[in-house]
Amino acid sequence: MRHTTTVTTGTTVKGVTVVTGGSRGIGAATCVRLAAEGHDLVLGYVRDATAAEETAAAVRAEGARCVVVRADTSVEADVERLFDTAEAELGPVTGLVNNAGVTGPLGRLADATTENLRRVVEVNLLGYLLCCRRAARDMAARDGGAIVNVSSAAATLGSPGEYVHYAATKAATDALTVGLSKELGPDGIRVNAVAPGVIETDMHAAMGDPDRPAKAATTTPLGRPGRPDEIAAAVAWLLSPDASYTTGTILRVAGGR
Ligand code: NAP
Repeated sequence: MRHTTTVTTGTTVKGVTVVTGGSRGIGAATCVRLAAEGHDLVLGYVRDATAAEETAAAVRAEGARCVVVRADTSVEADVERLFDTAEAELGPVTGLVNNAGVTGPLGRLADATTENLRRVVEVNLLGYLLCCRRAARDMAARDGGAIVNVSSAAATLGSPGEYVHYAATKAATDALTVGLSKELGPDGIRVNAVAPGVIETDMHAAMGDPDRPAKAATTTPLGRPGRPDEIAAAVAWLLSPDASYTTGTILRVAGGR
């Protein structure tokens, strides 16, 4: 039996949730967790179609419906198509997990290329804004909903020597979350964020240091990196009726960092 979601208005609606960057890492774990909790999923990805289809198969194995859409979240037309497809194939969108993110190579700001800075800002900030805007329009016109933005502990740590530009986009994510929660509360839309610490995903190899999670274990009070499913659990809670009075919260899931 499929799950229903009670949003802040008290209205009961079917859960159709868009997850950007759902093909791999934290997004993939979130898709599978949400499917197990009864959400139907719209899984966005940008390049890795094989990973997207593998995650979609895992979602469907949980009994959920799943639509896979290639959509670059930094491109307005792609974001509009992502939500249009969601509505056409599964029905009104009641949940958004803004997760698709990039860092570019590790290093000091003085050594970063303008191309990399622009890409990080466009995916991590403009992309989140475009998805939040469309979700706000759709959810306000119906029965409300819930948004979770995947931020980072970097937003408060600043990440010197690694990627201060990325940290800046995550601090912006936190501001977006707080401001939008106040703007959309009257529309029955909750907006929260999860701020992960160092989590075992492909992201670290992509930024040039596949051993980064193991190294981070020494500076993490819990003594290990996190797993994608540990972030997925926090996202799932924030989307659930159990979090019906929670909005504007940045939930840090970072092993004490
Ligand atoms: P990941 O393993 O590198 O996966 C990134 C995901 O985002 C992939 O599904 C990728 O799609 C998608 N993506 C990248 N650029 C995109 C774009 N322009 N449009 C649409 N999708 C795009 O990353 P992750 O570690 O799971 O990170 C997920 C989120 O958690 C990010 O926002 C990241 O900043 C945040 N975070 C991660 C960590 C960590 O330690 N891993 C810590 C704190 C916060 P393809 O598969 O098609 O490439």
